Amino acid sequence: MPADEMRSALIRKDDDDNEPPEVGASEPETPVVAILGSGDFSRSLTGRLLASGYQVVVGSRTPKRSAALFPRSAEVTSQLEAASRAEVVFVAVFPEHHSTLSELRPALARKILVDVSNGSRIESDGPSHAERLADVFPESFVVKGFNTVSAWALQTGPRDGSRQVFLCADNPHAKRSVLAICRRMGFSPVDAGPLSGALQLENLPLSLFPSWRKPVLATAILFVFFYLYNFVRDVLHPLVTGGRSLFYKMPVETVNVTLPSVALVMLALVYAPGVMAAALQLWRGTKYSRFPGWLDQWMDGRKQLGLCGFLCAATHAVYSLCLPMRQSARYKLLNAAYKQVQDHVEVAWNEEQVWRMELYLSAGILALGLLSLLAVTSLPSVANNVNWREFSFVQSTLGYCALFMSTLHTLLFGWNRALDPNQYRFCLPPTFLLVLVLPVSVLLVRLLLLWPCLAHPLRRIRRGWERRSHVRFNLPNDDRSDNVSHV
Ligand code: NAP
Repeated sequence: MPADEMRSALIRKDDDDNEPPEVGASEPETPVVAILGSGDFSRSLTGRLLASGYQVVVGSRTPKRSAALFPRSAEVTSQLEAASRAEVVFVAVFPEHHSTLSELRPALARKILVDVSNGSRIESDGPSHAERLADVFPESFVVKGFNTVSAWALQTGPRDGSRQVFLCADNPHAKRSVLAICRRMGFSPVDAGPLSGALQLENLPLSLFPSWRKPVLATAILFVFFYLYNFVRDVLHPLVTGGRSLFYKMPVETVNVTLPSVALVMLALVYAPGVMAAALQLWRGTKYSRFPGWLDQWMDGRKQLGLCGFLCAATHAVYSLCLPMRQSARYKLLNAAYKQVQDHVEVAWNEEQVWRMELYLSAGILALGLLSLLAVTSLPSVANNVNWREFSFVQSTLGYCALFMSTLHTLLFGWNRALDPNQYRFCLPPTFLLVLVLPVSVLLVRLLLLWPCLAHPLRRIRRGWERRSHVRFNLPNDDRSDNVSHV
Protein backbone atom coordinates (compact mmCIF):
# COMPACT_ATOMS: atom_id res chain seq x y z
CA MET A 1 0.00 0.00 0.00
CA PRO A 2 1.41 3.45 -0.89
CA ALA A 3 2.45 5.63 2.06
CA ASP A 4 -0.22 8.27 1.24
CA GLU A 5 -3.05 5.73 1.37
CA MET A 6 -1.77 4.24 4.61
CA ARG A 7 -1.78 7.68 6.26
CA SER A 8 -5.21 8.60 4.97
CA ALA A 9 -6.65 5.40 6.44
CA LEU A 10 -5.38 6.35 9.90
CA ILE A 11 -6.47 9.96 9.82
CA ARG A 12 -9.86 11.03 11.21
CA LYS A 13 -11.92 11.11 8.01
CA ASP A 14 -14.90 8.75 8.37
CA ASP A 15 -15.89 6.49 5.48
CA ASP A 16 -19.58 7.11 6.03
CA ASP A 17 -20.62 10.44 4.50
CA ASN A 18 -23.46 10.78 7.01
CA GLU A 19 -21.16 10.74 10.01
CA PRO A 20 -19.26 13.75 11.31
CA PRO A 21 -15.50 13.40 11.51
CA GLU A 22 -14.71 12.18 15.02
CA VAL A 23 -12.52 14.46 17.09
CA GLY A 24 -11.02 12.32 19.81
CA ALA A 25 -8.15 9.95 20.33
CA SER A 26 -6.55 10.63 16.96
CA GLU A 27 -6.98 14.43 17.11
CA PRO A 28 -4.00 16.65 16.26
CA GLU A 29 -1.84 18.24 18.97
CA THR A 30 -3.74 21.54 18.94
CA PRO A 31 -7.17 20.88 17.43
CA VAL A 32 -9.23 23.85 16.28
CA VAL A 33 -12.53 24.62 17.99
CA ALA A 34 -14.78 27.46 16.86
CA ILE A 35 -17.15 29.52 19.01
CA LEU A 36 -19.94 31.62 17.56
CA GLY A 37 -20.65 34.66 19.72
CA SER A 38 -18.26 36.83 21.70
CA GLY A 39 -20.18 37.26 24.97
CA ASP A 40 -19.41 36.21 28.55
CA PHE A 41 -19.76 32.49 27.94
CA SER A 42 -17.67 32.61 24.78
CA ARG A 43 -14.85 34.45 26.58
CA SER A 44 -14.77 32.00 29.49
CA LEU A 45 -14.96 29.00 27.17
CA THR A 46 -12.13 30.41 25.06
CA GLY A 47 -9.89 30.71 28.13
CA ARG A 48 -10.68 27.15 29.21
CA LEU A 49 -10.15 25.70 25.72
CA LEU A 50 -6.85 27.55 25.29
CA ALA A 51 -5.69 26.28 28.69
CA SER A 52 -6.58 22.75 27.60
CA GLY A 53 -4.44 22.93 24.48
CA TYR A 54 -7.02 23.86 21.85
CA GLN A 55 -6.73 26.46 19.13
CA VAL A 56 -9.78 28.74 19.32
CA VAL A 57 -11.43 30.70 16.52
CA VAL A 58 -14.20 33.03 17.66
CA GLY A 59 -16.88 34.06 15.17
CA SER A 60 -18.31 37.50 15.83
CA ARG A 61 -20.61 39.86 13.93
CA THR A 62 -18.14 42.62 14.78
CA PRO A 63 -14.73 40.90 15.01
CA LYS A 64 -12.70 44.13 15.17
CA ARG A 65 -14.62 45.38 18.18
CA SER A 66 -14.72 41.99 19.97
CA ALA A 67 -11.04 41.07 19.41
CA ALA A 68 -9.88 43.29 22.31
CA LEU A 69 -11.96 41.20 24.75
CA PHE A 70 -10.14 37.94 23.97
CA PRO A 71 -6.61 36.72 24.68
CA ARG A 72 -4.15 37.23 21.85
CA SER A 73 -3.78 33.51 21.28
CA ALA A 74 -7.44 33.28 20.26
CA GLU A 75 -8.35 34.33 16.75
CA VAL A 76 -11.43 36.55 16.44
CA THR A 77 -12.88 36.62 12.99
CA SER A 78 -16.18 36.69 11.10
CA GLN A 79 -18.86 34.11 11.87
CA LEU A 80 -18.49 32.54 8.40
CA GLU A 81 -14.72 32.25 8.66
CA ALA A 82 -14.93 30.67 12.15
CA ALA A 83 -17.63 28.22 11.05
CA SER A 84 -15.48 27.05 8.11
CA ARG A 85 -12.30 26.61 10.18
CA ALA A 86 -13.35 23.95 12.74
CA GLU A 87 -15.14 20.62 12.90
CA VAL A 88 -16.63 21.42 16.29
CA VAL A 89 -18.47 24.72 16.66
CA PHE A 90 -19.88 25.96 19.97
CA VAL A 91 -22.97 28.15 19.54
CA ALA A 92 -22.63 30.68 22.39
CA VAL A 93 -25.53 32.82 21.23
CA PHE A 94 -28.91 33.24 22.93
CA PRO A 95 -31.52 30.84 21.47
CA GLU A 96 -33.74 33.68 20.26
CA HIS A 97 -30.88 34.63 17.87
CA HIS A 98 -30.16 31.11 16.56
CA SER A 99 -32.18 31.78 13.40
CA THR A 100 -29.91 34.75 12.52
CA LEU A 101 -27.10 32.22 11.99
CA SER A 102 -29.03 30.37 9.24
CA GLU A 103 -26.84 31.79 6.45
CA LEU A 104 -23.97 29.76 7.92
CA ARG A 105 -25.84 26.54 6.97
CA PRO A 106 -23.53 25.50 4.10
CA ALA A 107 -20.38 26.25 6.13
CA LEU A 108 -21.71 24.23 9.09
CA ALA A 109 -22.90 21.21 7.05
CA ARG A 110 -21.53 17.88 8.48
CA LYS A 111 -20.06 19.71 11.45
CA ILE A 112 -20.73 19.30 15.14
CA LEU A 113 -22.71 22.15 16.69
CA VAL A 114 -22.63 22.35 20.48
CA ASP A 115 -25.67 24.20 21.75
CA VAL A 116 -24.89 25.75 25.15
CA SER A 117 -28.05 27.83 25.36
CA ASN A 118 -30.46 28.16 28.27
CA GLY A 119 -34.01 29.44 28.19
CA SER A 120 -35.43 32.10 30.46
CA ARG A 121 -38.12 29.92 32.08
CA ILE A 122 -38.82 26.24 32.75
CA GLU A 123 -40.60 24.62 29.78
CA SER A 124 -42.67 21.48 30.21
CA ASP A 125 -43.26 20.92 26.48
CA GLY A 126 -40.74 20.72 23.65
CA PRO A 127 -39.23 21.27 21.25
CA SER A 128 -36.09 22.28 23.10
CA HIS A 129 -33.74 25.03 21.89
CA ALA A 130 -31.30 22.33 20.76
CA GLU A 131 -33.99 20.58 18.69
CA ARG A 132 -34.94 23.93 17.14
CA LEU A 133 -31.27 24.55 16.34
CA ALA A 134 -31.16 21.11 14.70
CA ASP A 135 -34.14 22.18 12.55
CA VAL A 136 -32.26 25.34 11.48
CA PHE A 137 -29.17 23.24 10.65
CA PRO A 138 -30.51 19.88 9.40
CA GLU A 139 -27.16 18.90 7.89
CA SER A 140 -25.20 19.51 11.10
CA PHE A 141 -24.89 17.27 14.15
CA VAL A 142 -26.25 19.06 17.18
CA VAL A 143 -24.99 18.19 20.66
CA LYS A 144 -26.63 19.79 23.70
CA GLY A 145 -24.27 20.46 26.55
CA PHE A 146 -22.28 22.84 28.76
CA ASN A 147 -25.48 24.80 29.51
CA THR A 148 -25.33 23.64 33.13
CA VAL A 149 -21.81 25.07 33.50
CA SER A 150 -21.63 28.78 34.26
CA ALA A 151 -19.17 31.17 32.66
CA TRP A 152 -17.68 31.57 36.14
CA ALA A 153 -17.13 27.80 36.51
CA LEU A 154 -15.41 27.76 33.12
CA GLN A 155 -13.12 30.58 34.21
CA THR A 156 -12.18 29.13 37.58
CA GLY A 157 -11.80 25.63 36.18
CA PRO A 158 -13.50 22.43 37.29
CA ARG A 159 -11.63 22.35 40.61
CA ASP A 160 -13.73 25.19 42.04
CA GLY A 161 -16.99 24.61 40.20
CA SER A 162 -19.06 21.55 39.43
CA ARG A 163 -17.16 18.92 37.44
CA GLN A 164 -20.20 17.41 35.74
CA VAL A 165 -21.16 18.35 32.19
CA PHE A 166 -24.34 16.75 30.81
CA LEU A 167 -24.36 16.02 27.09
CA CYS A 168 -27.06 14.68 24.81
CA ALA A 169 -27.07 14.09 21.05
CA ASP A 170 -28.58 11.78 18.47
CA ASN A 171 -25.32 11.17 16.63
CA PRO A 172 -22.94 8.94 18.64
CA HIS A 173 -19.80 10.16 16.77
CA ALA A 174 -20.67 13.79 17.48
CA LYS A 175 -21.39 12.99 21.11
CA ARG A 176 -18.10 11.12 21.51
CA SER A 177 -16.16 14.06 20.05
CA VAL A 178 -17.69 16.51 22.53
CA LEU A 179 -17.19 14.00 25.39
CA ALA A 180 -13.48 13.94 24.50
CA ILE A 181 -13.25 17.76 24.49
CA CYS A 182 -15.07 17.83 27.80
CA ARG A 183 -12.63 15.37 29.39
CA ARG A 184 -9.62 17.23 28.02
CA MET A 185 -10.98 20.40 29.66
CA GLY A 186 -10.98 18.55 33.00
CA PHE A 187 -14.74 18.09 33.32
CA SER A 188 -16.62 14.83 33.90
CA PRO A 189 -18.98 14.37 30.98
CA VAL A 190 -22.30 12.65 31.68
CA ASP A 191 -24.05 11.04 28.71
CA ALA A 192 -27.67 12.22 28.99
CA GLY A 193 -28.96 10.19 26.02
CA PRO A 194 -30.49 11.39 22.74
CA LEU A 195 -31.26 14.98 21.79
CA SER A 196 -34.87 14.50 22.93
CA GLY A 197 -33.46 14.84 26.49
CA ALA A 198 -32.27 18.39 25.76
CA LEU A 199 -35.41 19.97 27.25
CA GLN A 200 -34.61 18.38 30.60
CA LEU A 201 -31.01 19.66 30.42
CA GLU A 202 -32.26 23.14 29.53
CA ASN A 203 -34.58 23.12 32.55
CA LEU A 204 -31.81 21.99 34.94
CA PRO A 205 -30.12 25.37 35.52
CA LEU A 206 -33.49 27.09 35.91
CA SER A 207 -34.91 24.94 38.68
CA LEU A 208 -34.68 26.36 42.19
CA PHE A 209 -33.91 23.59 44.74
CA PRO A 210 -36.73 21.31 43.49
CA SER A 211 -36.03 18.57 46.04
CA TRP A 212 -35.97 21.08 48.92
CA ARG A 213 -39.35 22.71 48.33
CA LYS A 214 -41.51 20.34 50.39
CA PRO A 215 -39.03 19.87 53.30
CA VAL A 216 -38.53 23.67 53.56
CA LEU A 217 -42.29 24.18 53.41
CA ALA A 218 -42.79 21.56 56.14
CA THR A 219 -40.16 23.32 58.29
CA ALA A 220 -41.78 26.72 57.73
CA ILE A 221 -45.28 25.42 58.54
CA LEU A 222 -44.06 23.69 61.72
CA PHE A 223 -42.12 26.80 62.75
CA VAL A 224 -45.14 29.09 62.32
CA PHE A 225 -47.41 26.63 64.15
CA PHE A 226 -45.12 26.14 67.16
CA TYR A 227 -44.19 29.83 67.31
CA LEU A 228 -47.86 30.85 67.49
CA TYR A 229 -48.57 28.06 69.99
CA ASN A 230 -45.72 29.23 72.25
CA PHE A 231 -46.72 32.87 71.78
CA VAL A 232 -50.27 32.14 72.94
CA ARG A 233 -49.06 30.15 75.97
CA ASP A 234 -46.04 32.24 77.06
CA VAL A 235 -46.92 35.81 76.00
CA LEU A 236 -50.66 36.10 75.45
CA HIS A 237 -51.77 34.05 78.47
CA PRO A 238 -49.85 36.17 81.08
CA LEU A 239 -51.19 39.34 79.41
CA VAL A 240 -54.82 38.20 79.44
CA THR A 241 -54.83 36.57 82.87
CA GLY A 242 -52.45 38.82 84.84
CA GLY A 243 -52.00 41.96 82.69
CA ARG A 244 -48.23 41.23 82.43
CA SER A 245 -46.52 42.33 79.23
CA LEU A 246 -43.93 39.71 78.24
CA PHE A 247 -43.57 40.71 74.61
CA TYR A 248 -39.79 40.96 75.11
CA LYS A 249 -39.78 37.14 74.94
CA MET A 250 -40.77 37.13 71.27
CA PRO A 251 -37.36 37.57 69.56
CA VAL A 252 -35.29 35.12 71.63
CA GLU A 253 -37.17 33.01 74.17
CA THR A 254 -40.18 32.15 72.00
CA VAL A 255 -37.92 31.42 69.02
CA ASN A 256 -35.66 29.28 71.20
CA VAL A 257 -38.59 27.16 72.42
CA THR A 258 -39.91 26.86 68.86
CA LEU A 259 -36.64 25.74 67.21
CA PRO A 260 -36.13 22.50 69.20
CA SER A 261 -39.80 21.64 68.74
CA VAL A 262 -39.42 21.91 64.96
CA ALA A 263 -36.09 20.05 65.04
CA LEU A 264 -37.49 17.07 66.96
CA VAL A 265 -40.63 16.76 64.83
CA MET A 266 -38.49 17.01 61.65
CA LEU A 267 -36.17 14.29 62.94
CA ALA A 268 -39.18 12.09 63.70
CA LEU A 269 -40.46 12.80 60.17
CA VAL A 270 -37.15 11.41 58.83
CA TYR A 271 -37.68 8.03 60.52
CA ALA A 272 -41.50 7.81 60.36
CA PRO A 273 -41.68 6.72 56.67
CA GLY A 274 -39.11 3.96 57.31
CA VAL A 275 -41.18 2.34 60.06
CA MET A 276 -44.35 2.83 57.97
CA ALA A 277 -42.70 1.09 55.01
CA ALA A 278 -41.58 -1.79 57.26
CA ALA A 279 -45.10 -2.16 58.68
CA LEU A 280 -46.54 -2.13 55.15
CA GLN A 281 -44.10 -4.81 53.99
CA LEU A 282 -44.98 -6.99 56.97
CA TRP A 283 -48.68 -6.55 56.36
CA ARG A 284 -48.41 -7.28 52.64
CA GLY A 285 -45.91 -10.09 53.19
CA THR A 286 -43.76 -8.95 50.28
CA LYS A 287 -41.36 -6.20 49.30
CA TYR A 288 -42.33 -6.47 45.63
CA SER A 289 -45.47 -4.28 45.84
CA ARG A 290 -45.02 -0.60 45.24
CA PHE A 291 -45.41 1.81 48.13
CA PRO A 292 -48.05 4.49 47.73
CA GLY A 293 -46.71 7.53 45.84
CA TRP A 294 -46.82 9.82 48.89
CA LEU A 295 -44.70 7.36 50.90
CA ASP A 296 -42.14 7.10 48.08
CA GLN A 297 -41.92 10.90 47.89
CA TRP A 298 -41.64 11.17 51.66
CA MET A 299 -38.79 8.64 51.73
CA ASP A 300 -37.01 10.49 48.90
CA GLY A 301 -37.08 13.72 50.93
CA ARG A 302 -35.62 12.26 54.17
CA LYS A 303 -32.16 13.75 53.69
CA GLN A 304 -33.57 17.24 53.19
CA LEU A 305 -35.97 16.85 56.14
CA GLY A 306 -33.04 15.76 58.32
CA LEU A 307 -30.85 18.68 57.24
CA CYS A 308 -33.67 21.17 57.91
CA GLY A 309 -34.08 19.61 61.37
CA PHE A 310 -30.32 19.83 61.94
CA LEU A 311 -30.36 23.52 61.04
CA CYS A 312 -33.09 24.13 63.65
CA ALA A 313 -31.21 22.09 66.29
CA ALA A 314 -27.90 23.89 65.65
CA THR A 315 -29.61 27.30 65.78
CA HIS A 316 -31.32 26.28 69.03
CA ALA A 317 -27.89 25.46 70.51
CA VAL A 318 -26.54 28.92 69.59
CA TYR A 319 -29.65 30.66 70.97
CA SER A 320 -29.37 28.66 74.21
CA LEU A 321 -25.71 29.63 74.66
CA CYS A 322 -26.65 33.28 74.24
CA LEU A 323 -29.57 33.20 76.71
CA PRO A 324 -27.52 34.31 79.79
CA MET A 325 -26.11 37.31 77.86
CA ARG A 326 -29.50 39.01 77.73
CA GLN A 327 -30.33 41.92 80.01
CA SER A 328 -33.60 40.22 81.02
CA ALA A 329 -31.74 37.05 82.12
CA ARG A 330 -29.26 39.04 84.21
CA TYR A 331 -32.13 40.96 85.81
CA LYS A 332 -33.98 37.73 86.66
CA LEU A 333 -30.83 36.22 88.22
CA LEU A 334 -30.20 39.28 90.39
CA ASN A 335 -33.84 39.40 91.38
CA ALA A 336 -33.82 35.73 92.38
CA ALA A 337 -30.68 36.31 94.50
CA TYR A 338 -32.28 39.37 96.12
CA LYS A 339 -35.44 37.42 96.94
CA GLN A 340 -33.35 34.63 98.38
CA VAL A 341 -31.64 37.10 100.71
CA GLN A 342 -34.99 38.64 101.63
CA ASP A 343 -36.43 35.21 102.42
CA HIS A 344 -33.28 34.36 104.46
CA VAL A 345 -32.67 31.27 102.33
CA GLU A 346 -28.99 30.36 102.62
CA VAL A 347 -28.85 27.21 100.52
CA ALA A 348 -30.97 27.19 97.37
CA TRP A 349 -29.47 23.92 96.11
CA ASN A 350 -32.21 21.64 94.76
CA GLU A 351 -30.73 18.20 94.15
CA GLU A 352 -33.56 17.10 91.85
CA GLN A 353 -33.39 20.23 89.70
CA VAL A 354 -29.60 20.07 89.52
CA TRP A 355 -29.71 16.47 88.26
CA ARG A 356 -32.48 17.27 85.80
CA MET A 357 -30.46 20.14 84.33
CA GLU A 358 -27.22 18.12 84.10
CA LEU A 359 -28.92 15.21 82.35
CA TYR A 360 -31.01 17.48 80.13
CA LEU A 361 -27.94 19.38 78.90
CA SER A 362 -25.89 16.24 78.39
CA ALA A 363 -28.63 14.54 76.32
CA GLY A 364 -28.99 17.70 74.21
CA ILE A 365 -25.26 17.97 73.51
CA LEU A 366 -25.02 14.28 72.59
CA ALA A 367 -28.06 14.59 70.32
CA LEU A 368 -26.50 17.58 68.54
CA GLY A 369 -23.19 15.71 68.14
CA LEU A 370 -24.95 12.73 66.56
CA LEU A 371 -27.03 15.00 64.33
CA SER A 372 -23.85 16.74 63.12
CA LEU A 373 -22.42 13.34 62.21
CA LEU A 374 -25.58 12.46 60.27
CA ALA A 375 -25.48 15.81 58.46
CA VAL A 376 -21.82 15.42 57.49
CA THR A 377 -22.37 11.85 56.26
CA SER A 378 -25.24 12.96 54.06
CA LEU A 379 -22.88 15.19 52.03
CA PRO A 380 -22.23 13.47 48.66
CA SER A 381 -18.43 13.83 48.98
CA VAL A 382 -18.50 11.97 52.33
CA ALA A 383 -21.26 9.51 51.42
CA ASN A 384 -19.26 8.48 48.33
CA ASN A 385 -16.36 7.49 50.53
CA VAL A 386 -18.21 5.06 52.82
CA ASN A 387 -19.66 1.71 51.81
CA TRP A 388 -23.36 0.91 52.01
CA ARG A 389 -23.08 -0.82 55.42
CA GLU A 390 -21.19 2.11 56.95
CA PHE A 391 -23.67 4.59 55.48
CA SER A 392 -26.68 2.66 56.75
CA PHE A 393 -25.02 2.24 60.20
CA VAL A 394 -24.60 6.01 60.51
CA GLN A 395 -27.93 7.02 58.96
CA SER A 396 -30.06 4.29 60.53
CA THR A 397 -28.46 3.07 63.80
CA LEU A 398 -26.86 6.37 64.82
CA GLY A 399 -29.90 8.19 63.42
CA TYR A 400 -32.21 6.35 65.80
CA CYS A 401 -29.72 7.09 68.61
CA ALA A 402 -29.97 10.79 67.70
CA LEU A 403 -33.77 10.57 67.73
CA PHE A 404 -33.67 8.81 71.10
CA MET A 405 -31.26 11.38 72.60
CA SER A 406 -33.33 14.30 71.30
CA THR A 407 -36.50 12.73 72.72
CA LEU A 408 -34.73 12.15 76.04
CA HIS A 409 -33.54 15.78 76.02
CA THR A 410 -37.16 16.92 75.60
CA LEU A 411 -38.47 14.48 78.24
CA LEU A 412 -35.87 15.73 80.74
CA PHE A 413 -36.80 19.31 79.88
CA GLY A 414 -40.43 18.49 80.61
CA TRP A 415 -39.62 16.40 83.72
CA ASN A 416 -42.82 16.36 85.82
CA ARG A 417 -44.29 19.52 84.36
CA ALA A 418 -46.87 17.51 82.42
CA LEU A 419 -48.52 16.79 85.78
CA ASP A 420 -48.66 20.46 86.81
CA PRO A 421 -52.15 21.93 86.13
CA ASN A 422 -50.62 25.45 85.80
CA GLN A 423 -48.87 24.29 82.63
CA TYR A 424 -52.22 23.87 80.83
CA ARG A 425 -52.68 27.52 79.86
CA PHE A 426 -55.89 28.25 77.93
CA CYS A 427 -56.38 24.45 78.25
CA LEU A 428 -53.40 24.00 75.90
CA PRO A 429 -50.93 21.26 76.92
CA PRO A 430 -47.26 22.28 77.31
CA THR A 431 -45.40 22.41 73.96
CA PHE A 432 -43.02 19.58 74.84
CA LEU A 433 -45.97 17.19 75.31
CA LEU A 434 -47.26 18.02 71.84
CA VAL A 435 -43.79 17.67 70.32
CA LEU A 436 -43.17 14.27 71.91
CA VAL A 437 -46.17 12.52 70.30
CA LEU A 438 -44.54 11.74 66.94
CA PRO A 439 -40.96 10.84 68.04
CA VAL A 440 -42.19 8.63 70.88
CA SER A 441 -44.58 6.84 68.46
CA VAL A 442 -41.78 6.32 65.92
CA LEU A 443 -39.41 4.98 68.60
CA LEU A 444 -42.08 2.63 70.01
CA VAL A 445 -42.93 1.20 66.56
CA ARG A 446 -39.22 0.80 65.85
CA LEU A 447 -38.82 -1.05 69.15
CA LEU A 448 -41.77 -3.25 68.24
CA LEU A 449 -40.13 -4.06 64.92
CA LEU A 450 -37.07 -5.31 66.80
CA TRP A 451 -39.22 -7.96 68.49
CA PRO A 452 -38.11 -11.32 66.97
CA CYS A 453 -41.68 -12.25 65.91
CA LEU A 454 -41.68 -9.23 63.61
CA ALA A 455 -37.95 -8.72 62.99
CA HIS A 456 -37.45 -12.24 61.61
CA PRO A 457 -40.20 -12.18 58.92
CA LEU A 458 -39.24 -8.59 58.03
CA ARG A 459 -35.63 -9.63 57.47
CA ARG A 460 -36.80 -12.52 55.26
CA ILE A 461 -39.16 -10.26 53.29
CA ARG A 462 -36.29 -7.86 52.65
CA ARG A 463 -34.22 -10.79 51.33
CA GLY A 464 -36.94 -11.54 48.76
CA TRP A 465 -39.19 -14.01 50.63
CA GLU A 466 -42.94 -13.67 49.97
CA ARG A 467 -45.76 -14.88 52.19
CA ARG A 468 -47.87 -15.99 49.23
CA SER A 469 -45.48 -18.71 48.10
CA HIS A 470 -47.96 -20.45 45.84
CA VAL A 471 -48.93 -19.26 42.35
CA ARG A 472 -52.46 -19.76 41.03
CA PHE A 473 -53.05 -20.81 37.42
CA ASN A 474 -56.55 -20.42 36.01
CA LEU A 475 -57.31 -22.81 33.20
CA PRO A 476 -58.70 -21.04 30.11
CA ASN A 477 -62.52 -20.62 30.09
CA ASP A 478 -62.79 -22.27 33.46
CA ASP A 479 -64.03 -20.38 36.49
CA ARG A 480 -64.25 -23.34 38.85
CA SER A 481 -61.99 -22.98 41.83
CA ASP A 482 -61.21 -26.72 41.98
CA ASN A 483 -59.38 -26.38 38.66
CA VAL A 484 -56.77 -24.12 40.18
CA SER A 485 -53.26 -25.54 40.31
CA HIS A 486 -51.07 -24.65 43.23
CA VAL A 487 -47.33 -24.61 42.75
P1 NAP B 1 -23.89 37.40 25.88
O1 NAP B 1 -22.79 37.88 26.76
O2 NAP B 1 -25.05 38.31 25.67
O3 NAP B 1 -23.30 36.97 24.48
C1 NAP B 1 -24.14 36.60 23.41
C2 NAP B 1 -23.37 36.80 22.13
O4 NAP B 1 -24.16 36.35 21.05
C3 NAP B 1 -23.08 38.25 21.81
O5 NAP B 1 -21.89 38.66 22.40
C4 NAP B 1 -23.00 38.26 20.29
O6 NAP B 1 -21.66 38.22 19.87
C5 NAP B 1 -23.63 36.94 19.86
N1 NAP B 1 -24.70 37.11 18.87
C6 NAP B 1 -24.74 36.48 17.69
N2 NAP B 1 -25.83 36.82 17.01
C7 NAP B 1 -26.51 37.70 17.76
C8 NAP B 1 -27.70 38.43 17.56
N3 NAP B 1 -28.45 38.30 16.47
N4 NAP B 1 -28.08 39.25 18.54
C9 NAP B 1 -27.36 39.38 19.69
N5 NAP B 1 -26.21 38.71 19.91
C10 NAP B 1 -25.79 37.88 18.95
O7 NAP B 1 -24.47 36.04 26.45
P2 NAP B 1 -23.67 34.86 27.20
O8 NAP B 1 -23.83 35.02 28.63
O9 NAP B 1 -22.32 34.73 26.63
O10 NAP B 1 -24.55 33.60 26.77
C11 NAP B 1 -24.43 33.02 25.48
C12 NAP B 1 -25.15 31.69 25.48
O11 NAP B 1 -24.56 30.85 26.47
C13 NAP B 1 -26.63 31.80 25.84
O12 NAP B 1 -27.39 30.92 25.05
C14 NAP B 1 -26.68 31.36 27.29
O13 NAP B 1 -27.93 30.79 27.62
C15 NAP B 1 -25.57 30.34 27.33
N6 NAP B 1 -25.01 30.15 28.67
C16 NAP B 1 -24.45 31.20 29.34
C17 NAP B 1 -23.91 31.00 30.60
C18 NAP B 1 -23.27 32.12 31.38
O14 NAP B 1 -22.85 31.89 32.53
N7 NAP B 1 -23.16 33.30 30.82
C19 NAP B 1 -23.95 29.72 31.17
C20 NAP B 1 -24.52 28.67 30.47
C21 NAP B 1 -25.03 28.90 29.21
P3 NAP B 1 -21.18 39.09 18.60
O15 NAP B 1 -21.77 40.47 18.78
O16 NAP B 1 -19.70 39.10 18.70
O17 NAP B 1 -21.71 38.40 17.40
